[in-house]
Amino acid sequence: MLTRADLIILGGGCAGLSLAMRLAGWGLDCPRIALIERRVDYGHDRTWSYWRTPGARLTHLAGREWTAVGVTAAGRKVSVDCREMPYQVIASSDFYAEAWRWIRANPRIDCFLGEEVTTPPMREAGEWRVATARGEWRGATIIDTRPPTNDSAVPPRLWQSFSGVEVECPDGTFADHEATLMDFEPDSSGAISFLYLLPYSTGRALVEATMFSPERRSAAEMQPLLARVLARATADRPYQLGRHEHHAIPMGGGEEASSLGEGHVRVGLHAGAARAATGYAFQRTQRWADAAADAAARGRAIPSIARDPWIIRRMDSLFLRVLARAPERAPGLFLRLFARPDPRPVLRFLSDEARPADYLKVMRSLPAGLFLREALRGFLP
Ligand SMILES: Cc1cc2nc3c(=O)[nH]c(=O)nc-3n(C[C@H](O)[C@H](O)[C@H](O)COP(=O)(O)OP(=O)(O)OC[C@H]3O[C@@H](n4cnc5c(N)ncnc54)[C@H](O)[C@@H]3O)c2cc1C
Repeated sequence: MLTRADLIILGGGCAGLSLAMRLAGWGLDCPRIALIERRVDYGHDRTWSYWRTPGARLTHLAGREWTAVGVTAAGRKVSVDCREMPYQVIASSDFYAEAWRWIRANPRIDCFLGEEVTTPPMREAGEWRVATARGEWRGATIIDTRPPTNDSAVPPRLWQSFSGVEVECPDGTFADHEATLMDFEPDSSGAISFLYLLPYSTGRALVEATMFSPERRSAAEMQPLLARVLARATADRPYQLGRHEHHAIPMGGGEEASSLGEGHVRVGLHAGAARAATGYAFQRTQRWADAAADAAARGRAIPSIARDPWIIRRMDSLFLRVLARAPERAPGLFLRLFARPDPRPVLRFLSDEARPADYLKVMRSLPAGLFLREALRGFLP
């Protein structure tokens, strides 16, 4: 079976569906698209969170928002009032349903589910060609959202591993007016470990064990930490376990998957979607999808994910170097960052919407000596 299309999208996850749903909105002006995806079922397999800044996209899909988030370390707690930029959460199932509603309504998009692309795309006679066990697709442009098959040669500075479960508890277990961004756990292994908790109601929450460490941690390796934070979050009350999610996101420094040539565009989590210092990728992916659809509308080549501005790359890299070298300082650093009387500069900074003065305010929230020493480390004997 040979299928020809203007645009071949490899992978119908967050990035692939985000672009396809935007182009689907063009109706019959939509380019002819072939979307190839190995899975056949879509469900609530992940939860995307972000701050509802003025530039945030798809906010109508949010299932819940919080106007306060907490950061706790060594018995000290900072409650961040984020009424102006609430912390929101989108269940992936709601995003998938919305994306598929648009895509299925457009006859110019053909979807091939249950198809796994196993060979690298090849360029032949000015066209890209990909194949699965059952078919072959040819087209001018490939949007490749698949993760790389091997870990990159240059490892990321840190991995953000997380394992979470949804729990049902007796009403009154959780304070549902505030999400817990970070509640640090003592860790003697050199990792930075904390509880992340999204209380959907006073009796239901997503409880997540999170770890920043030089190596990625499997779900089994995260289990002891998850058990500890679960016991703490539920105050040892009885609970029923719901769905489970686990993942590890590379944080900075790694070599990102690169393009195979003109017309082959790599995007997604492993191609610049994740912000180095936070791992947040959902809103960045939405911004890319808007830019990609805009380029297509103007007849221009679809871009890859834009590189962060120099200042963000330098600040994120320095922050990650400090965390990697002095993980025991992490709880204090995050407390200081969020303890500012006005949290908006930090929230804009974390959401890629910083104003020029925000960079300075973020820098001034952190201990100058520690960061200066790390910045100078490369130059000192
Ligand atoms: C549990 C979890 C929680 C997360 N929480 C957040 C969060 O709170 N905030 C945030 O910003 N980010 C979060 N992320 C990170 C990121 O936003 C998501 O991973 C996002 O789904 C990445 O989008 P993507 O398109 O790059 O990858 P995916 O959504 O994984 O899409 C890639 C698609 O390619 C398909 N595929 C792969 N290989 C092949 C192949 N060979 N042939 C055909 N199809 C293939 C896969 O089946 C998949 O559907 C989370 C990730 C996970 C896993």
